[in-house]
Amino acid sequence: MKDSCFNEYDPSAIKVDKAISKILSASKIKNKVEIIPLKKSYRRILAKNIKSSKNIPNYKNSAMDGYAVNFVEQKNNKYIFQCVGESFAGHPYRKKIKKNEAIKVMTGGMVPDSCNAVIMKELVEENNKMITANSIIVKNQNIRFPGEDIKKNQTVLRDGKEIDEVDIGILASLGMAKVPVYSKPVIGYFSTGDELVSVTDKIKKSQVYDSNRYLLHGLLQRYPVDIKDYGVVRDNLINIEKKLKKASNECDMLITTGGVSVGEADFVKNALDKIGKVKFWKIAVKPGRPLAFGNIKKCTFYGLPGNPVSVVVTFNLFVRPAIRKITGQQNKRDLVLDAILESDLKKRKGREEFKRGILRNKNGKLFVKTSGAQGSNILSTLKDANCYIQLHENISKIKKGTHVKVIPFSVSSEHYE
Ligand code: AMP
Ligand code: MG
Repeated sequence: MKDSCFNEYDPSAIKVDKAISKILSASKIKNKVEIIPLKKSYRRILAKNIKSSKNIPNYKNSAMDGYAVNFVEQKNNKYIFQCVGESFAGHPYRKKIKKNEAIKVMTGGMVPDSCNAVIMKELVEENNKMITANSIIVKNQNIRFPGEDIKKNQTVLRDGKEIDEVDIGILASLGMAKVPVYSKPVIGYFSTGDELVSVTDKIKKSQVYDSNRYLLHGLLQRYPVDIKDYGVVRDNLINIEKKLKKASNECDMLITTGGVSVGEADFVKNALDKIGKVKFWKIAVKPGRPLAFGNIKKCTFYGLPGNPVSVVVTFNLFVRPAIRKITGQQNKRDLVLDAILESDLKKRKGREEFKRGILRNKNGKLFVKTSGAQGSNILSTLKDANCYIQLHENISKIKKGTHVKVIPFSVSSEHYE
């Protein structure tokens, strides 16, 4: 089909899903493993299944402050115990408890095997070491048993899991001071463009501050990778080639922005063609159609478009799955929700589109609207958005009230009513 003002079909552009699967099959996990201190493991990727070598908790203990008792059921629920000692956390009572005896116990204190219940302290009266309780006692009440949380030999965390704060807590409770994780791949980036000025310099009309390197730096920090900033390269084939050669020697993955469309000063794709391999360079997606993907020897290469919104969207759609794979992470998929459109939307046929949206919950139903102007240079409407509205390539007009797919990325309580 020909390009026209009503549609944007481009036969040389590949579909989003196909692009992702080509990217994933070209991305190889780094198999090197390092053993690092537990505290340094936040957001690193676990390189081994972790089995528990013990039961957690590893001893029978109390869930309450109260009395651990050896009780014999009474029909009238009237109980009298003699208090013979105490068991505090870290200070167990080691002797046997006979029938109708009790010990004072604190939360986490060891409960002797001879006790068959713990009574909350608020439910008893103590007088001269005699404890009276007038309530139903159920066998094993308020007792935590060994292995109740984690059983010995249970696989607790799997190879490929991104370690979060709860995982760190679990690993600590297993007594693991060190953890095996995948080593960090090196990811480098540079910007291209004659109009770009560093944020520390004065800017003239006709120039643009180089925001893309900062965006990329922010985006990459989320992952367990070593980041290398190669600065700005001017629109010149020789310079771009030189920088690509140097950076690809030092990195596992390289990302550039700008210079990939068909403009006269767009040299990135040509440079990649000369010194590496272009696997594809157009995706039927908006924003972000020109995206050169390929490799220079072992280094995978992503030539992202120059407009800042395109950088973020294409990073999230195409680079992020690859980063997850090369860092050793398990396959993770974005959560896709269904929401009701709050006003009419328009798009051209021919590209799958990801509009910036605001998703909110109104009386238990999800509603979505765009966050404003959708030009790929307008970063402020991405700042105001909390989701992408994902629209199929073949649709054009979408009426208010239609159910649409949304991919939330930062749903804060601000957006709730
Ligand atoms: P290009 O893909 O090189 O044709 O650039 C597309 C648009 O993005 C142009 O308006 C550029 O000025 C802008 N742009 C390119 N690189 C950057 C950058 N590093 N920071 C901010 N804007 C940029
Ligand atoms: Mg440019």
